[in-house]
Amino acid sequence: MSYLDLNPNLTSEQLTLKEEVRRFASEVMRPAAEKLDKCASPADVIAKDSILWDVLRQSRELGYHTRVLPEALGGLALSPTDQNIISEEMGWGSAGLSVCMGAGTMPYAMAAMFGSPELIEEFVIPFRDDTKAKYVGCWAITEPEHGGGDQLLIGSKREGIPLIRHDTRAKLDGDEWVIRGQKAAWVSNGTIATHALLHTSVDGTGDERDAALFFLPLNLKGISKGKPLDKIGQRDLNQGEIYFDEVRIPKHYMIVSPEMHEHVLDMILAGANGGMATTFTGVARAAFEEALKYCKARVASGKTLAQHQLVQKRLFDMFTKVECARALARAVNGYNAQTMPPEPHYAVAAKVHNTQVAFDVASDAVQLLGGNGLSKEYPIERIFRDARAALIEDGDNDTLTLGGARYLLERYS
Ligand SMILES: Cc1cc2nc3c(=O)[nH]c(=O)nc-3n(C[C@H](O)[C@H](O)[C@H](O)COP(=O)(O)OP(=O)(O)OC[C@H]3O[C@@H](n4cnc5c(N)ncnc54)[C@H](O)[C@@H]3O)c2cc1C
Repeated sequence: MSYLDLNPNLTSEQLTLKEEVRRFASEVMRPAAEKLDKCASPADVIAKDSILWDVLRQSRELGYHTRVLPEALGGLALSPTDQNIISEEMGWGSAGLSVCMGAGTMPYAMAAMFGSPELIEEFVIPFRDDTKAKYVGCWAITEPEHGGGDQLLIGSKREGIPLIRHDTRAKLDGDEWVIRGQKAAWVSNGTIATHALLHTSVDGTGDERDAALFFLPLNLKGISKGKPLDKIGQRDLNQGEIYFDEVRIPKHYMIVSPEMHEHVLDMILAGANGGMATTFTGVARAAFEEALKYCKARVASGKTLAQHQLVQKRLFDMFTKVECARALARAVNGYNAQTMPPEPHYAVAAKVHNTQVAFDVASDAVQLLGGNGLSKEYPIERIFRDARAALIEDGDNDTLTLGGARYLLERYS
C-alpha cells in the first residue's frame, strides 16, 4: 500500500496530479539524483551530456516550470494544495534537483509579477515556451560578506534595524543601471544560470538603506562566474559565484524598486520558505519509507527489525514527524496564499521545523539501517547528506529563527 494522504478533500484531479508527479520523481528524478551524486567532480554534474539536462528537459516538457507563472501568461493555475503536492513529491525524488528547478524559475516568476510588458515579452514568454531547458534562472542574494542573517535586514526601513548594505551595488547612469559586486558561491544554479533575480543595494539615491531587485541576463559584458562548488550534500545541485564588473542594463530591468523592496522581500521569504517546507517534507518521507522497507525485511536476533519494540517506537516517531511536517507546510502555504501581505514568520517556522524533521528522520533512518545506513549501496546515505544541507540552505536555520522572532514580536502585542 502506498503512503496515505490525510487530506480527505483531495479531488480526483489532485490525486491524478500526485500520481503523475510521483512517477516523474521516482522514474526520472531519483535515478538521476543517484547518478549525479556519484559524479567525481561538480563539473561533471553540469557537463553537456549530463543526465541533469534530461531531467530539466523532461520537467519542462511536462510544464512544471510554468507552475510559477500567472494563468494569464499560460501558467498552470494551481491551488496551494496542488503546489504542495508537487513540491513534496519532487522533494521525495531529490532535494537538490527540486531546488535546482525551483530556483531556476525565480527570475521569470518575479518578472511575470513585477516586470514591464517589454520585459515579459523578451524573457518570460521564451522561458514559458522553453522545452529544451535553454533558460535556467537563479536567485542571487547571498554574498561572501553577507550570509542569511544580513539578507533579512538589508533594505529594511523598519525602526531599529541596523544599516547593512549589499556589496553588490546598482547606480543609475543616464538611462542605464550599472551593477558591480559579487554574489556568494552558494547561489543555486550559479554557474549554469542564464538569468538571475539579483538583489543589490542602490547608490546615489540619498538613502543608504535603498535596495532593489533586478532581472539580469547573465550573458552581458562584465559578468563572470566562479567554479562549481563541491559539497557534502545535494551534490546534484549546481552552485557557484557570480561577479559583476560595471555591468550596464536598461532601466526597466529593475523590477522591484526601493519603495517596494521590503514588502516584496517578505513575499519572497514567505514563498521560498514555504517551498522548502514542502520539499523537505518529501525528503523526510523518503527517509521514513527507506527505513520502513528495510526494517520489514532485515532479520536480526531471530526476527525482523520491525518486530523489535524499540524499532517500532522509532519508526512510529518518524511517521509522526513526517505527518506533522506535511500538516504544517500545507496550513502555512494555504494561509499565506490568501493573505496579503503574507506572514513570513509562519513560513520561516515551517522551513525551520520541516528541514530539522528531514534531518532527524534521515538520521534515525541511518541508525535503523545500521552499517548499511552508512553505505553508498543504500539511498539513505545520500538522503541524509541532502537533508543536512537544508539546515543552512535558503537561510541558515539559526538566523532564520531570529528573523522569524523579529516578525513575531513586531506583529503581536
Ligand atoms: C544547498 C544550499 C543552497 C543555497 N542556495 C542559495 C541560492 O539559491 N541563492 C543564494 O543567494 N544563496 C543560497 N544559499 C546560501 C544560504 O542562504 C547561506 O549559506 C546561508 O544564508 C548562510 O550564510 P553563510 O553561509 O554566509 O553563513 P554565515 O552567515 O557565515 O553564518 C554561519 C553561521 O553563523 C551563525 N550566524 C550568522 N549570523 C548570525 C547572527 N546574526 N546571529 C546569530 N547567529 C548567526 C549561524 O549559526 C550560521 O549558520 C544556499 C545555501 C545552501 C547550503
